[in-house]
Amino acid sequence: MADVKKLVSAPDEPKGRLISIFVGAVLLPSLALSYVAMDFVHKLASAQKATKIKNATGILYYIEKELAHTAQNRALEAAQALDPEVLLEGRPAVIDAALRKQGIGAGVFTTLRLETSSPRMILRTLRMGNRREIEVSPEVLAAIGSFADGAGEDSVPWPAREGQTGGVLRFRFSCEYAHHELIRDYFENEFKRQNPDQALVVRVSEPSGEVLYETAPTRSDVNFEVTREMDSASFRGLKLAMRNRDLSIDQQVKRWQHWTWILIGFIDIMLGAGLLLVFSNVRRELHLSQLKSDFVANVSHELKTPLALIRLFAETLELGRVPSEDKARQYYRVINKESQRLTQLINNILDFSRIEAGRKEYRFAPTDVGLIVNEVLEAYRFQIEQQGFTLEVAVADDLPEVSADKEALGQALLNLVNNAIKYSRDEKYLRLDVRRDGERVLLSVTDRGIGVAKGEQKKIFEKFYRAENSLVHETKGSGLGLALVQHIMQAHGGSVEIESAPGKGSTFTLVVPIRRRTETA
Ligand code: ADP
Repeated sequence: MADVKKLVSAPDEPKGRLISIFVGAVLLPSLALSYVAMDFVHKLASAQKATKIKNATGILYYIEKELAHTAQNRALEAAQALDPEVLLEGRPAVIDAALRKQGIGAGVFTTLRLETSSPRMILRTLRMGNRREIEVSPEVLAAIGSFADGAGEDSVPWPAREGQTGGVLRFRFSCEYAHHELIRDYFENEFKRQNPDQALVVRVSEPSGEVLYETAPTRSDVNFEVTREMDSASFRGLKLAMRNRDLSIDQQVKRWQHWTWILIGFIDIMLGAGLLLVFSNVRRELHLSQLKSDFVANVSHELKTPLALIRLFAETLELGRVPSEDKARQYYRVINKESQRLTQLINNILDFSRIEAGRKEYRFAPTDVGLIVNEVLEAYRFQIEQQGFTLEVAVADDLPEVSADKEALGQALLNLVNNAIKYSRDEKYLRLDVRRDGERVLLSVTDRGIGVAKGEQKKIFEKFYRAENSLVHETKGSGLGLALVQHIMQAHGGSVEIESAPGKGSTFTLVVPIRRRTETA
């Protein structure tokens, strides 16, 4: 029980909570949804297949009806060309001769006769020896009809005409005519008209399997998907079979299923990508808030240390407890250095908050970069010398003036020099290089300090970011210096670049275009 409780209770640390929210609220429901969707697609595919087969069966039923209709029309047309009396007698030889005379041809019908309930007609039809009129009721006629149906005859209503009542035309086409002429006639006219693109292929075959007609040739390995045994009198026993010309029903359904699965897969991938995106963003926000609280702690410490030193040395001086003039000068230097450090830190924080609020303004003017280098070195010379740094400075002679905000560019350079001093350990070396490179002036600050790992060289320019290195954490800092440098350089239309290897040292280069883009335009 305790285990279950532990399993469903929310983890304590924020990252764990974040993961459990994502798994519980997003990942599991979306996996469940995908599973349900897959199952649903499967069922839908089966239903689709059943519907398509049902439709195809319906089409075959319709074709059979149409064929029967064609036969009836053909019989009616032929009968209407003959004398009704000949039809009433229904003697095959006479009818055959009459049909030939009408140009319809011989051997078309096995039987063709007219039945009517009109007494006058019946008299003639039955031709009883003494020519007596015999009343034959419709029921009797119906019985005769059913007997006729049993003999494989078809029938069609005989329309009433002047002076005559209607009746039933009974007929049976010869096998040869029905199986060849009638079927071809239907498929080449009526069926073609209704299926102009020939997307359906129909085959008619004998019960033995012999093919009588097919609307398009079919390879022996291709299956007809639906079949029907015909029941109408003229075509009884023949088999109708149908297939789709291009894709079989099975292939159509499989293709649909295939694409639907691809779509679901795609949606899943998008969902996964979205999840990752949201996850990494939220994680980043968490990280940022962690960095912010580190920042507050670091800045407080950064403020407290120089203030404590300044107070200590100022008090000592005030009380006159300084043993010698030299010591006094040393105390003044410490006060000076620490207040410089404070000013730099406060400037960075103020500038940063101006940038964040979008209120940072730059005043661009033609500027001598060499002069900026000298001013920065002047400010740091004492510290550089006191800490035992080897300093090399190389300023090219042919430097042009650049369009820059002198203060901002100075501050950027100051931050780089400050970092080079802060992050140097055993080998204390500092080099400043200023040279022209085409339409740009490059200011490089090189140290042989702790260096920056490849994976962090981009991140260190983010606000509050400090490298995950224990050496870095020995040194207090706000994580704002390089973010500020980058902002300043971007405002100048330039950039800041880094070349560094852990343990070997770093070179940070400020790239300043001689003319800003707005000026060249
Ligand atoms: P801070 O120095 O106050 O931490 P910065 O924005 O100036 O903030 O620098 C960000 C991080 O970049 C530092 O914490 C440090 O890890 C790394 N870094 C900056 N300059 C150097 C350098 N010269 N050598 C090694 N690492 C450096």
